[in-house]
Amino acid sequence: MIDLGILQGSTFVVLGLARSGLATARALKAAGIDCVAWDDNVVSREAAVKAGLSVADPSGIDWSRITALIISPGIPSTFPKPHPVAAAARAAGKKIICDVELLARAQAAACFVAITGTNGKSTTTALIGHILTEAGVRCEVGGNIGRGALDLAPLGEDGLYVLELSSYQLELLETFRANVAIWLNITPDHIDRHGDLAGYVAAKENIFARQKPGDCAVIGIDDQPSRAVYDKIKGRQGIAAIPLRLEAPIEGGVSFRAGMLVDADGYTVDFSDVPTLPGDHNAQNAACAWAACRWLDVPREKIVAGLRTYPGLPHRQERVASVGRVVYINDSKATNADATARALSSYRDIYWILGGQAKEGGVAPLAPWFDRIRHAFLIGEATELFAGQLEGKISYSRCGDLQSALDAAHQRAQREATGQAVVLLSPACASWDQWKSYEHRGDAFRAMARALPGAQILGRAA
Ligand code: ADP
Repeated sequence: MIDLGILQGSTFVVLGLARSGLATARALKAAGIDCVAWDDNVVSREAAVKAGLSVADPSGIDWSRITALIISPGIPSTFPKPHPVAAAARAAGKKIICDVELLARAQAAACFVAITGTNGKSTTTALIGHILTEAGVRCEVGGNIGRGALDLAPLGEDGLYVLELSSYQLELLETFRANVAIWLNITPDHIDRHGDLAGYVAAKENIFARQKPGDCAVIGIDDQPSRAVYDKIKGRQGIAAIPLRLEAPIEGGVSFRAGMLVDADGYTVDFSDVPTLPGDHNAQNAACAWAACRWLDVPREKIVAGLRTYPGLPHRQERVASVGRVVYINDSKATNADATARALSSYRDIYWILGGQAKEGGVAPLAPWFDRIRHAFLIGEATELFAGQLEGKISYSRCGDLQSALDAAHQRAQREATGQAVVLLSPACASWDQWKSYEHRGDAFRAMARALPGAQILGRAA
């Protein structure tokens, strides 16, 4: 836990008591700092009380005695409508910050590697953490992934923190400085919370705020908004801006394509046989990790060794089992067509399990990959919508639930498959019609696949 002793004398309101808010309230309490902790959800409040914290409703509080509001990034403080507590804090002229800001204040001498972008944040963060740890560099990994910022260990001035930061968190920083800022990509997302694409990009651009000469900015430039950001940052005095691009070499930058990256000096890394980093998208993540670790002076061989042993994250093209030559893949995190496109583009003979609660547009945008699908197995609420979209294009079956879909896909793949076939759960849908979360759905798939007759377990035993 981070020691927040330097904040002695302050009084905070902590709003939102899920993972990061609970860690914040615990760290404040441990440092003997006054805080009014609250969550609108009674279950979260009860969990906080169970954890030994006291809760109190901050509505109507006297804000003159409060130093700042520490808000969970998931709670709106501006768009579409500020939470009433955020509105009251702002009206009283108080700062609204998040837990990462407190980490930055408490560990001011540490080095921070921060990762943002629309897609690939968790993978890149976990990959950098893995490479550094394998290379013997002590670091702590957290933020929007795994542990909350204030649950991390205090590392002091030689410390290195690798933090995944969402646009919501980035808006709530005041002094945080990223020594290495990584910007992966931008596609329209979370527009409801930022007003428009420009607002979303502006929130993310905070990752470069307060960078100083000698700091580094690693920027993927394969989409237009990201190119504009790169053009801005490369003009900044003393900041090493490293561009990353798909396929085409780029001066001073890193180019990549599936299973391959090429550094500015022509040094080439082939990781095409690493099963945990398939596809162009993971090559972008690997290229970001490469550039950041090179900047941190990690020797090349050690970075390569880390890339080669990356264990992957659960639910993201996670290889969970094999039966004969067929591999069973859990991509439950793919809750929209864009994410599913990445998985479809990574394999050739696909027995595809999809469905759940559909997103706008359904699976129509996935047509360019339909020639890879041997058969589709539909589940959940989206069944009729998807059946209509697939009709006449690829063969499909209505399976109802995940177990039936897996059984049918398994039988068919075992009967037909000749080459390197995959049974892929990549639903392109939210999970809430049949599951509590995408993790719940993916955990169930993993257990079901590993229970198939003759299954060999792949990946972690999780
Ligand atoms: P995030 O933390 O940003 O949501 P993840 O690393 O958890 O990203 O990956 C989530 C999904 O996004 C993956 O399953 C994959 O479909 C897709 N993805 C991962 N990396 C990239 C990337 N660099 N570009 C585009 N899509 C990606």
